[in-house]
Amino acid sequence: MAERYKIAVIPGDGIGPEIIEEALRVLDKAGDLYGFEVDTQMLLAGGASIDKNGVPLTPGTLEICKASDAVLLGAVGGPQWDNVDPSIRPEKALLGLRSGLGLYANLRPAKLFDELSHASPIKDIKDTDILFVRELTGGIYFGKSGEYDSSEVLSDGQPEGHVAFDTETYSEGEIKRILKIAFDAAMGRCRKVTLVDKANVLTTSRLWRKLFFEMSKEYPEVVIECLYVDNCSMQLISRPHEFDVIVTSNMFGDILSDEAGMITGSVGMLPSASLGAPGTPGLFEPIHGSAPDIAGTGKANPCATILSVAMLLRYSLGLTEAADAIEKAVVDAVTSGYRTADIYIGKEGEMLVRSSQMADAIISGITR
Ligand code: NAD
Repeated sequence: MAERYKIAVIPGDGIGPEIIEEALRVLDKAGDLYGFEVDTQMLLAGGASIDKNGVPLTPGTLEICKASDAVLLGAVGGPQWDNVDPSIRPEKALLGLRSGLGLYANLRPAKLFDELSHASPIKDIKDTDILFVRELTGGIYFGKSGEYDSSEVLSDGQPEGHVAFDTETYSEGEIKRILKIAFDAAMGRCRKVTLVDKANVLTTSRLWRKLFFEMSKEYPEVVIECLYVDNCSMQLISRPHEFDVIVTSNMFGDILSDEAGMITGSVGMLPSASLGAPGTPGLFEPIHGSAPDIAGTGKANPCATILSVAMLLRYSLGLTEAADAIEKAVVDAVTSGYRTADIYIGKEGEMLVRSSQMADAIISGITR
């Protein structure tokens, strides 16, 4: 009998419902070919939930997500909700899902599609395929912070006055679990992991390094490298093709994964996964927002969400072959010239298509 999985689906706002519709068609086709079935439960979050329930994420929605095998999300937010009370902004739904599901690892591939390399700000870029593994629930964003008034005086006589501080704290357990995700991911890729830190200055970074070297002994096939974050920000521009997996803390990952996304040039092509403890549901979503400027026009690029489905199959359901088939079908569609408006430049061989036509091309390319 076919394996059955429960997927919680949150279309969200703006282009969210449109791209999710296309991604679910892809999921159906993959299920038909690879012999699995999905029970999808459609849920509200973000602006759509504020309109219906007065809050961006209800406890009931979170409970359904927790009881699922995985969560697929479109995007949340839009100008209609810009002026709501900050405590119930649409984006709060994402924070509620991350903390409620205990998602401590954020995986963001930055893969360059060679046919789209003209959109990269780096000239002559090629063969770039980086997987960022960012710690998501610790570090300076969650450390002790505060403000106070100081009567101390600085060396040049200037009074300190008002003082604000944020602190970075990492425990061995928090670091080890994210390093393991990075090393395991590298084993299924090109077997290289780069640790990005600031070990020349930060005590937390030195603990990351120590644990990184220790864990590397369990993965003798994996080549390791350590880079200071300032150096890495330059190396990402000068030699992006030499990276495989990059693992780093919450704040460094926040900044560098956006830089790497920009290098690939196409926000509509980049998926993401947020994972927690093994056996708990992961959250899969495109890295872009709800693109209210093109919502309802049929112009949205569904590829990032379709590639998020592939990550869902790979990381939450363990269906590697189906995930590979979807990823290959996306590459094939782009190679064959299918282009939504965001990636179309009118070159010979390119066909300008709507979201649904892009999904059709991908669906027909999924084979077994
Ligand atoms: P955005 O990513 O929504 O859009 C930026 C630009 O990229 C726009 O021109 C948009 O048309 C284009 N774009 C984005 N995705 C596209 C796609 N799939 N196909 C074609 N073009 C695409 O970022 P923004 O405009 O800064 O934010 C819009 C709303 O989305 C805001 O309310 C923001 O808070 C929210 N947002 C949500 C998430 C999320 O749900 N994870 C992430 C970022 C922003």
